[in-house]
Amino acid sequence: MRLQGTMRVNDKNHLEIGGCDTVDLAREFGTPLYVMDEAMFRQNCRAYYRAFTEAYGAEVIYASKTLTNLAVCTIVEQEGLGLDVVSGGELYTAARARFPMERVYFHGNNKSPEELRMALEYKVGRIVVDNRYELEMLNAVAGELGVKAKIMLRLSPGVEAHTHEYIKTGQIDSKFGLAIENGMAMTGVKRALELPNVQLKGFHCHIGSQIFELQSYAHAAEVMMTFVNHVYQETGYTAEELNMGGGLGIYYYQGDQPRPVKEYADVMMGAIRAIAAEFDLPVPKVIVEPGRSIAGPAGITLYTVGAIKDIPGIRKYVAVDGGMGDNPRPALYQSKYEACVANRMNEQPAEKVSIAGKCCESGDMLIWDIELPPLQPGDILAVSSTGAYNYSMSMNYNRLPRPAMVLVNNGRADLIVRREDYADLIRNDIIPERLRSTVVKLASSR
Ligand SMILES: *Cc1c(COP(=O)(O)O)cnc(C)c1O
Repeated sequence: MRLQGTMRVNDKNHLEIGGCDTVDLAREFGTPLYVMDEAMFRQNCRAYYRAFTEAYGAEVIYASKTLTNLAVCTIVEQEGLGLDVVSGGELYTAARARFPMERVYFHGNNKSPEELRMALEYKVGRIVVDNRYELEMLNAVAGELGVKAKIMLRLSPGVEAHTHEYIKTGQIDSKFGLAIENGMAMTGVKRALELPNVQLKGFHCHIGSQIFELQSYAHAAEVMMTFVNHVYQETGYTAEELNMGGGLGIYYYQGDQPRPVKEYADVMMGAIRAIAAEFDLPVPKVIVEPGRSIAGPAGITLYTVGAIKDIPGIRKYVAVDGGMGDNPRPALYQSKYEACVANRMNEQPAEKVSIAGKCCESGDMLIWDIELPPLQPGDILAVSSTGAYNYSMSMNYNRLPRPAMVLVNNGRADLIVRREDYADLIRNDIIPERLRSTVVKLASSR
């Protein structure tokens, strides 16, 4: 496993992160345990702030869906970033963390009228409108509240970026945004300019996630700026703002080669400026929305090894006390992760094993085929790069309580998400009165 951020091996040959011994963390807080490296999380925020805000006056907004809770919102606020939320729940979390609402962008492809009302009442900075239905609904809700909603329109630029390449798909088959290609975007813009209760500030796109090929951003910038120009030609409207989404890739597994944030900023901003000059347009205010590349590498998950099953000549399964409930990504996307034995960091890999979760699903495998030192029940396994899309995607399948999260820094470990207990699992359950009487009747009729 590659050691990232503040991770190191201490003199007990244990994995250390944020100055805390992971074996002690496992003992004190239990496992599975999400551990967040505060210094690295902040450092990642700062890299964006420097490369985009200081260098180009661009705004950086952290994508909440990656990982959010009250402590994380607080750190993001302290680092001067804004926040992208995609639901009433994420918005509520930001509000309860006292996040400045003018720095909040509200996304989503199916916002409810209640969510739109909530966003307007909270006075979020921008609502990123996904489609025509939402545009009309927002105009009506804003009218009822007597406010003018500041909006961006989400567009689908027909550029699809994957890890190592991008495809100019001319893709119009997406649940997100209005396609430029088939004219839906232009019609949407014209409608937005007509509506009395919305104020169009600019356009948004998001071309994918876990992207290493920076040219895909330059290409998306070209498509978006060409559209900005087209709109100007047709309507006289000049977009003031351009939100280019997130998606920068991180290191999960050998072979992943993440690009520095500065390079990403230079390539994208360079492209936007060049095209603006070409069309003789003002350079719009640019917004970027990184998520994974801020939270991902800053998190690890600790597990305790339990049952080990060696099927001779076939495979050795090593089961841990978590799995798809706390990290659904391998099951959802066949994502690959690295791991190490946190309590015996000095030992060399000696055998190939597969790490299984504890859910009743054959697909609940965290890692297939990894070389590790010989494992024993009770060992602490650390999986790296779990800061993004793990806790935020966690679930209670099999009624497993969700893990705790600790924030570590300079030898301190603070609980920022409490571990769920069994009582949490039945907190919302209700037995209707008539079932109680049925139970009595059935019992008495036997
Ligand atoms: C998911 C998402 C992001 C963040 O993407 P990362 O790959 O985590 O950087 C940003 N903007 C939008 C609209 C998204 O849907």
